Amino acid sequence: MLLPQERIPLLLRLPAFRRDVVFRMDDEGPTVYLTFDDGPIPESTPWLLQTLEEYGAQATFFMVADNARRYPELHRSVLEKGHAVGNHSFHHVPPYRQTIEEMMTDVARADEILGSRLYRPPHGLMTYSQQNALAGNGYRIVMFDLNTMDYRADRTPEQIVRSVTRHVRPGCIINLHDSLKSIDKLKIALPLILEMLRSRGYQFCSLDQRQLCPASDDSPAEPRS
Ligand SMILES: [Zn+2]
Repeated sequence: MLLPQERIPLLLRLPAFRRDVVFRMDDEGPTVYLTFDDGPIPESTPWLLQTLEEYGAQATFFMVADNARRYPELHRSVLEKGHAVGNHSFHHVPPYRQTIEEMMTDVARADEILGSRLYRPPHGLMTYSQQNALAGNGYRIVMFDLNTMDYRADRTPEQIVRSVTRHVRPGCIINLHDSLKSIDKLKIALPLILEMLRSRGYQFCSLDQRQLCPASDDSPAEPRS
């Protein structure tokens, strides 16, 4: 199967055959789910929040818990503005470098700060046993349908906008980053993406933990100050 470059690689799509991994929401209407990985950090998160607010857009921030611990005021701002928070590990160590026990300890430690049962693995790769362990502990693995590759040094803002323009579809979960690697590009690309999607009638929603993991306790953790 040939996949366009911005579609995530087949290797990452294999878990899509499992019901406990989400790649795209089952929406019939024009809704997109912007997701921002790796924050929060002062160099990026405040600008993202302000820009999303200008467009009345809700999003989901898959945070590295150590960043949320260092910047509790940013973690709090994200929640106060009505966005969703997901778990993106404690220190951004990818699961494929961890045993199941190490990964679950890491995820649980991050959960204490982030209070989210939505989990996105750093670097996207994990074993089926690790997926089973997460699902068995009430976590929902959330990948994405559209990879803008905004983190890549050779990626231009124009390419990021073009990848969304070409590949967006209803229910799309779009991968972006709240990071030093991305922010300068997003300062150009994100307003254009929001403008273009809005002109096409899209609404910007955050991922709903209550919908995706009905069994979980949906109360977000209070950021530590
Ligand atoms: Zn990441």
